[in-house]
Amino acid sequence: MKKVLTTCGYCGCGCNFYVDIRNNEVIGVTPKQDHPVSRGRLCVKGWQGHSFVNHPDRLRHPLIKHEDGYFKEATWKEAIEFTAKTLKGIISRHGGDSVGVFSSARCTNEENYLMVKLTRAALKTSNIDHCARL
Ligand code: SF4
Repeated sequence: MKKVLTTCGYCGCGCNFYVDIRNNEVIGVTPKQDHPVSRGRLCVKGWQGHSFVNHPDRLRHPLIKHEDGYFKEATWKEAIEFTAKTLKGIISRHGGDSVGVFSSARCTNEENYLMVKLTRAALKTSNIDHCARL
């Protein structure tokens, strides 16, 4: 069995654990004992939330919905350019308050701060919320 040290991606706390890998498949996690945040402990999401890694329905690429109604695989560059162009078009026609942003509890405080900056400075709206409030 191979063990790979990583940071839990389920919230912004930043607990550390080793991902336990056997035959190229994630089979469990082991908390890092001397980590200053988690100190050898994890919440239930950290312990049990790894099943998505090998799930066949896991999204592995950005998808863009085309005019025929079907989602098609795209590169990150294509997806980001498509999103920027679409948002720019909506804002130029209807103003900044015609769009909104949902950020995530899985982001760090710093990433959520950047989302607020992007929303207010670039998109020109205060329409921003966070999934922890939903
Ligand atoms: S183990 Fe729990 S508390 Fe720690 S980062 Fe993951 S989700 Fe957050």
